[in-house]
Amino acid sequence: MARRVLISGGAGFVPSHLCDRFIADGWQVLAVDNFCTGRQSNIAHLLGNPAFELLEQDVSVPFTVAGPVAAVLHFASPASPIDYLRLPIETLQVGSLGTMNLLEIAREKQARFLMASTSEIYGDPLEHPQRESYLGNVSSIGPRSVYDEAKRFSEAAVMAWRSARGVDTKIIRIFNTYGPRMKTGDGRVVSNFVVQALRGEKLTVYGDGLQTRSFCYVSDLVDGIVRVLERGDHMPYNLGNPGEFTMLELANEISKQIGQVEIEYQPLPKDDPTRRKPDITRATTDLGWTPKVPLHEGLVAMIADLRARLAAGDA
Ligand code: NAD
Ligand code: UDP
Repeated sequence: MARRVLISGGAGFVPSHLCDRFIADGWQVLAVDNFCTGRQSNIAHLLGNPAFELLEQDVSVPFTVAGPVAAVLHFASPASPIDYLRLPIETLQVGSLGTMNLLEIAREKQARFLMASTSEIYGDPLEHPQRESYLGNVSSIGPRSVYDEAKRFSEAAVMAWRSARGVDTKIIRIFNTYGPRMKTGDGRVVSNFVVQALRGEKLTVYGDGLQTRSFCYVSDLVDGIVRVLERGDHMPYNLGNPGEFTMLELANEISKQIGQVEIEYQPLPKDDPTRRKPDITRATTDLGWTPKVPLHEGLVAMIADLRARLAAGDA
């Protein structure tokens, strides 16, 4: 019988690609989602596939799952700043109650557990690039704290369920990932800029546009996740593409591909990290993982997807 994986947040951007990957690899996939930020259309192509099950459920509320589960991948959480600022309490709940509920399911099923943590663990980092050993520079009361602290709590819970309850656990810290299926109104920078450029609107650059991020294409991330699940150890792994770009460089690359665009400068949100770049030595050394898709290439696929969806009215 096929191994069965529970993917929380399965209708979201990254986890819907994971559903595809696990089904392609011969797994039975149970996606659990309450659709607070996810989209039916991300998984519409899987409905009716006997290898795919969908449970509409808020994972912050205790629930049970019938039948065997070999792995639990916890990806449920608002992830875009505009989403977690709109859903602050729900974000804290899913990173605390949700994580503990899913760890209990993993314990009961004797399943391996993988936590989708984030580069936000490092806050506005004072170490550059960020290694997993860096403890971070995080505000516990700023606007981003609902997300950052929820993920920090999640990591603590994972370590405790490992040591006190014997769950086989993995933690990944994901750096800014982009690709097809991001919502047109997602609010994160790559989808914002691409949608604005395709609509002939000005690109909204926050602050002076000199802050940096390192953008990972979703297929590279998915490959890293599978490697961590299969053979990673229990300490956190950074997963991201070390290519580092300012927001103005990103705007320039998108303008090269879509056509000349104007820029509208808007205020920088409070506590917006100044620089971010993963040190991926651990994932490369332990797992042989390196991202393959450079930004300009990933943007081609993302632009094609968003162009088609805008034309079809699929937000
Ligand atoms: P997303 O918003 O597209 O996906 C999140 C999914 O979780 C959505 O389908 C949403 O409906 C679901 N969800 C949220 N709360 C839930 C709850 N209480 N119960 C059930 N389902 C719930 O975001 P994404 O970018 O695909 O991110 C997925 C995961 O990866 C998140 O945990 C996020 O923190 C993490 N992550 C993503 C990135 C990135 O760059 N995309 C970076 C760091 C971490
Ligand atoms: N950003 C921007 N314009 C936008 C959206 C975001 O300049 O329309 C900036 C934002 O201030 C941040 C960077 O892009 O410095 C990445 O933002 P995003 O929301 O994608 O992710 P995060 O801040 O969580 O890394």
